[in-house]
Amino acid sequence: MVSIEVKRLEVGMLGTNCYILQDPGTGEGYIIDPGGDARGILDASNTSGLSCLGILCTHGHMDHVGAVGKVAEATGASVFISREDAGILAGSAKGLSNRLGSLFVSKPSGVEFIRGGDTLPLGENTIKVLSTPGHTVGSLSFLVGGGIFCGDLVFQGSIGRTDLRGGSLPDLLNAVSREVWVLPDETKIYPGHGPVTTVGIEKETNPFLRNLD
Ligand SMILES: [Zn+2]
Repeated sequence: MVSIEVKRLEVGMLGTNCYILQDPGTGEGYIIDPGGDARGILDASNTSGLSCLGILCTHGHMDHVGAVGKVAEATGASVFISREDAGILAGSAKGLSNRLGSLFVSKPSGVEFIRGGDTLPLGENTIKVLSTPGHTVGSLSFLVGGGIFCGDLVFQGSIGRTDLRGGSLPDLLNAVSREVWVLPDETKIYPGHGPVTTVGIEKETNPFLRNLD
């Protein structure tokens, strides 16, 4: 199996992790969570010759979708998000155009709803879409090539906030238990903020996930 190239960029005021996934054979790939700094994201994807198959959103919060419009416009790629969180995306776009004018230059060219169980092609690999609610109702994670891109579900030594609208701590813990803890220890966790970690490290050291089965 051909391994996938992963590029991590910290974007926006909250230093959100935007990931560029690319199959080295075909050059095809995806951009996950373009939360800001559209120019930087597009420069990075141009440098690596990315043929963008889609823009994947782990969830609809502004710091993860802030540059969706510009990146979608420049790449012509569709935006993939859960139906539940698409409302937040729409709200964000509207809020942005009201408050910040030109930041959200146009509506995404196309929005496609995805949910747990769906798959997306990536060269010889397949991206598996996982439903991992708790931070938001429609939070998704993307499992591919020995790594999980989990948005604001799990961070190194921490977990996503559950006190925002649609948040639920029991749902988040269930999602971690059901979708993350079942993965091999060496599986990489690519979180929405902060450094990359692994399932094994978080099982041993994450104070918020102690005693979780
Ligand atoms: Zn969030």
